[in-house]
Amino acid sequence: MFVADCLQVNQEGHLCIEEQDTLELAAKYGTPLYVMSETQIRKNCQRYRDSLKRFYDGNGLALYASKAFCCKEICRIAAEEGMGLDVVSGGELYTAISAGVSPEKIYFHGNNKTAPELVAALEHKVGTIVVDNLEELEMLDRLAGAKNMRQEIMLRVKPGVDAHTHNFIRTGQIDSKFGFALETGEAMAAVKEAVGRSNVVLTGLHCHIGSQIFDTEPFLLTARIMIGFLAQIRQQTGCELQKLNLGGGFGIQYTPEQDPPAYETYMERVSSVIHEICGQLEFPTPYILMEPGRSIVGPAGITLYTVGAVKEIPGIRTYVSVDGGMTDNPRYALYQSEYQIMNAGLALQEKTMRVTLAGRCCESGDLIGENLPVQHLEKGDIVAVLSTGAYNYSMASHYNRMPNPPVVMIKGDKDRVIVRRETWEDLARLDV
Ligand SMILES: *Cc1c(COP(=O)(O)O)cnc(C)c1O
Repeated sequence: MFVADCLQVNQEGHLCIEEQDTLELAAKYGTPLYVMSETQIRKNCQRYRDSLKRFYDGNGLALYASKAFCCKEICRIAAEEGMGLDVVSGGELYTAISAGVSPEKIYFHGNNKTAPELVAALEHKVGTIVVDNLEELEMLDRLAGAKNMRQEIMLRVKPGVDAHTHNFIRTGQIDSKFGFALETGEAMAAVKEAVGRSNVVLTGLHCHIGSQIFDTEPFLLTARIMIGFLAQIRQQTGCELQKLNLGGGFGIQYTPEQDPPAYETYMERVSSVIHEICGQLEFPTPYILMEPGRSIVGPAGITLYTVGAVKEIPGIRTYVSVDGGMTDNPRYALYQSEYQIMNAGLALQEKTMRVTLAGRCCESGDLIGENLPVQHLEKGDIVAVLSTGAYNYSMASHYNRMPNPPVVMIKGDKDRVIVRRETWEDLARLDV
């Protein structure tokens, strides 16, 4: 019935996250409210760790892609679970370092890192910088040289696999702002350039083919292509690169109809492909990195709202307005993402209404979903939107000067605030 293990229904018919009644949480903390399950996050991390151990002799590391939900407590939890961390900006790096994440397990991504960000990364001794372009390579080499440092790097490669078409295709991804294209020879030229620089050490390659991917085939094809490229690099430069970062993008279930493969299945398949291809090419099996973001935190989160106005437009649709919207969850406005919703107080009842869940912004597109089946809803009810743990809080905005909701972390029957609710004063804090 539910899209995540951490959700259940109690005897009163209320939606619970772990052992906490969502109606009690809404009453205690107010709405809108993000709620996360710590047990679920840890379990998701463990699945990656265990799968790497079971299917790849533990010769790798899963990095939590922090952009999915970046705050100190979630960085701490991921680090405690033995994950490395992927950051994409100085702000994410700062958060990770302040949370006490070991810098050597941090991978710094981004297609246009600034000089101050690179300096911060060098000063914090970030383990690996994933270099995206030649301008960055030149700048990093110079900045590292000025500090008498040799920085470990990977190069981001576009493997030419587009996982986002209905039947995924191998071309087309040349048209991307990220990384060096493989087919055009750009990636090989970048490898040679990197190898020739004295203040960076090239340790491997990175690729990332997209997000919310359900099919394992594009991942397998990517692994084949990348190992082929590693062998080609050895042939042309004599360098045998040891590390291969296969990126993230593993899909999660937002609605009951969706059926993503288990990570274990993916790991087992990718591992067998890597072993097979390495055997054929007589290339040593690389140390692999994975970068799950959505699949770590997505299923672990829900958002609670209070219903305000209900407008039934006969023959057209029913608008149910809630006290949040695109400012705390912009994903429907951005890309028509689907969600499952429910009346948190009537969780087991039949869904008798079809509603458009609307936010409070001055924007007709401020919707959380359209044509959503839900139990009876009226003013004052608490609505839960499920699977909001990824790319909601991290994508939140302050449009219309809406304060961001707080984040409450649940563990068993315990609840604690991990991000406080913003106030109107917070919103005006930087105003002069
Ligand atoms: C976004 C991103 C990820 C995480 O993707 P998910 O779909 O959340 O798993 C990993 N690596 C890179 C480079 C990314 O840009």
